[in-house]
Amino acid sequence: MDECGDAGSTQEIPGILHLDMDAFFASVEVRDDPRLRGLPVVVGGAGARGVVAAASYPARTRGIRSAMPMASARRLAPDLVIVPPRIEHYRRISARVMELLGDVVADIEQISVDEAFLDVRGARRLFGAPEQIADLLRRRIREELGLPSSVGGSVSRAVAKIASARAKPDGLLIVPAARTAEFLAPLPVSVISGIGPKAQEALDRIGVRTIGQLREIPRSALARAVGPRAPEILALADGSDRTGLGHRTRDKSLGTERTWDEDLTDPAEVRRCITQMADDVARQLRRGDFVTRTVVLKLRAPDGTTITRSSTWDQPTSSGERLREQVVSLWERERSRMRRVRLVGVRASHLEPAAGTPVQSELTARAAGWQDLEAAMDRALERFGTHSLGRGSTLSAADGAQRGPADPVPDPAASSPGHPAEDGPHPRERGGR
Ligand SMILES: [Mg+2]
Repeated sequence: MDECGDAGSTQEIPGILHLDMDAFFASVEVRDDPRLRGLPVVVGGAGARGVVAAASYPARTRGIRSAMPMASARRLAPDLVIVPPRIEHYRRISARVMELLGDVVADIEQISVDEAFLDVRGARRLFGAPEQIADLLRRRIREELGLPSSVGGSVSRAVAKIASARAKPDGLLIVPAARTAEFLAPLPVSVISGIGPKAQEALDRIGVRTIGQLREIPRSALARAVGPRAPEILALADGSDRTGLGHRTRDKSLGTERTWDEDLTDPAEVRRCITQMADDVARQLRRGDFVTRTVVLKLRAPDGTTITRSSTWDQPTSSGERLREQVVSLWERERSRMRRVRLVGVRASHLEPAAGTPVQSELTARAAGWQDLEAAMDRALERFGTHSLGRGSTLSAADGAQRGPADPVPDPAASSPGHPAEDGPHPRERGGR
C-alpha cells in the first residue's frame, strides 16, 4: 500500500478534483422552503429588466438558463417561481461548504462562491482513492448542508472542471489519466475555457468542432485560431496537461455598475452617480479589509461605445474620498466625448489586503465570490446587451456557478480595454485612509 517512493505513479492519480454546487442559489432556496421542490424556481430580480441568477433543474428542463432575462424565463414557464437573491445567506453557506472541504482536504483553491479545486493526492492515505474522497465530500455536503453538488476528477484542473460539468446534476465523474484524450475527443471545443466564441468561430471555419478534430490540425492553424494559448490548449486536448492547483493567478477586483433605462444627459447627474459608486466601492473594500491601487471608470454610450479609463496610485488606498476624486477627474476628461450615458461603472482592481491584515482564506473567498458575481453579470451584459440588464449593487447579482465549461470566467479587470495602458496621472499621496 505504500506508494510514497513512486513519484511516477503518484502523479498519474486523477487527484485534482473540481467540486461545484448544483444550481447553488436555487438549491439553497429550495432547501429552505421545501414547498418549492420540483417547481421551476429561479433566483433573480423580478423587475422588468431582471435577470436569472440561478435556475433549479426543473426550471432548466423548461429551457431556462442563468443570465437569461427574467421576461424570457417567464415566457418559458408561466408558473415560474422567482425568489429574490439573498447574497449574504449564500455566502454564509458557501463558507460552510469550504470549511467542510477543508476538514478532509488540505489543498483547496476556491474559485467562486460555490466551486473549488481540491488536490486530494495527499489525502488518499487517510481517506482513500479520489473516487472515495469525492463520495465522502458529496455525502457530507448533502447530509450536513442539505445541498447537491457534483465532482469531476482528473490529472489536470481543466479536465476536472470539464468532468464536473458532465457529471451534473448530483454526479461524480473521474477521468483516469490514460483515458483523458479519449474522454475529451468527442466533446465540442467550446468546453475548453481558453476557447472563446471568436476562436470557436475560427475553428468552425476550418471544420474543427470537437477536441478530437482539434488535435489533428497543424499547429500553425491552431495558433491562428486560438492565439498564444495554442500550446496550452493542445496539451489539454491530447491529455498531457498536468496543471494542478494554484497555477492560475487571478487579479482580484471589485466594483459596481449600473445601466439606465433612459440615457443620462445631465453631467451633474453622471457625476453624482459616479461619486456614489466610488463611495460604494470604497465601502466594499473596507468591508473586505482590502486596499486598491487602481480605480477604473467605465462609461457606455447608448450606441454601445464603451470607454474604460483607469488611474493608478503609488500607495494603495480604501478611501472613498480618493476614489471619488479620481473617478471624477477621469470623467471630466471624457465627458465631452460622451454626452449621453447609458451605463456607468466604477471598479477597484489590483486589490491587496489592508496593511497588517493577513490574507485569510475567508477574505480571499469573499473577494472570489464578488468577482464571480461580477463576472457573471459581465457575461450577461455581453450576451444580452445593456438594454436587458439593470444592475444594482446586489439585487441582480448572478450565480457564476451556473456557468458551464463552455462559458469561462472572464477576468473583468484584465479584459477592460484601455487598462492599464491608458492609466491616468498618478495622484499625490495624502497619507493614511
Ligand atoms: Mg455551481
